[in-house]
Amino acid sequence: MDFTLTEEQLMVQEAAREFAQNELLPGVIERDEAQRFPTEQVKRMGELGFLGMMVDPKYGGSGLDTLSYALVMEELSKIDASSSVVVSVNNSLVCYGLEAYGSEEQKQNYLTRLASGEIIGAFCLSEPEAGSDATSQKTTALDKGDHYILNGTKNWITNGNSASVYIVIAQTDKEKGHKGINALIVEKGMPGFEIGPKENKLGIRGSDTHSLIFNDVKVPKKNRIGEDGFGFKFAMKTLAGGRIGIAAQALGIASGAYELAKEYAKVRKAFGTEIVNHQAIAFKLADMHTQIEAARLLVYKAAKDKDTGADYDLSGAMAKLYASQVAMDTTIEAVQIHGGNGFVKDYHVERLMRDAKITQIYEGTSEIQKIVISRSITKD
Ligand SMILES: Cc1cc2nc3c(=O)[nH]c(=O)nc-3n(C[C@H](O)[C@H](O)[C@H](O)COP(=O)(O)OP(=O)(O)OC[C@H]3O[C@@H](n4cnc5c(N)ncnc54)[C@H](O)[C@@H]3O)c2cc1C
Repeated sequence: MDFTLTEEQLMVQEAAREFAQNELLPGVIERDEAQRFPTEQVKRMGELGFLGMMVDPKYGGSGLDTLSYALVMEELSKIDASSSVVVSVNNSLVCYGLEAYGSEEQKQNYLTRLASGEIIGAFCLSEPEAGSDATSQKTTALDKGDHYILNGTKNWITNGNSASVYIVIAQTDKEKGHKGINALIVEKGMPGFEIGPKENKLGIRGSDTHSLIFNDVKVPKKNRIGEDGFGFKFAMKTLAGGRIGIAAQALGIASGAYELAKEYAKVRKAFGTEIVNHQAIAFKLADMHTQIEAARLLVYKAAKDKDTGADYDLSGAMAKLYASQVAMDTTIEAVQIHGGNGFVKDYHVERLMRDAKITQIYEGTSEIQKIVISRSITKD
């Protein structure tokens, strides 16, 4: 398999690397500590075309491939996963979902503004009692002819307060089970739509995660994505691509921590020599490098599968499962290599370690990825 990057992919990668160094790195520690959403940085990412990377330029997007998107996610995540998750949700879950399954009117009304970064979106599937088991939706969207009446609570919603447009999954017909679920476009400010308090998190603290409450929200029927009952399939299809973005985020977190640890090991001295000369430290770096390279191959393979029209359910799940484990292992070792300095904020690796954990939880936990993988490899 040939992963030689094209000139365009290299340019996009370089642009993301420069942006991350020059505009994400300054203030990243303070944003994390204060749980401050990267408003200015998100605006700039919109200007750079990072918020609608794979969307057709006729809808305001950059018209790039999934591999370019993965490269950007990797570079941004080396520095600031709180900013990269905004890119991930907006691209993979909101823009992709609308472009692939939305009506022309929905694309003109919403996708154009989302892809250009004028506004950002949120994807609302999880509920207090429906996380991994997403079929147990308690949020209801009752069919009232030309509109739905939406009631319920969503949990853990990324961009919860910063978004302007929310794709909300809700049960219309309980009798039909997952075939009675719909995906509705809800706008901020619709009467009855409230944003709950912000979560105080272990990692990706700059990202704003909120619960959302819907009390008799009237949503026009033209805001339903796809046919009646398509909502669950919509969510699963969208999340399958989302996993590639999160896998790339995990890869970036791992690479960022590895680079910091390698440079530190070359200058920190103990017992009269740089610690990289102690084989125990050198071998840690060898393991980290090897695992990161393996994760990168899985992530690029999944991205290529999506770009070539091949099935990417299996490769995306494997990429996310493995890259998120590598992110966890690598960041823990990066803290260890930094010794006491690894435990304080100035050296960045403790933040990367905290940020790594979420990649094993959202868009399907590692256990759920194993269910997807095992079902896929045993189905025939
Ligand atoms: C910071 C953050 C941001 C998020 N952003 C969003 C968002 O934007 N939109 C959104 O819709 N959701 C979002 N989520 C929700 C996230 O996707 C869920 O937390 C996740 O899917 C797990 O669901 P749960 O928390 O209910 O855990 P549960 O489903 O209760 O799982 C608990 C544990 O049981 C395991 N488990 C469950 N079922 C099985 C099984 N069948 N076999 C084996 N093990 C199992 C899980 O793997 C996990 O370890 C976010 C979560 C966080 C923390």
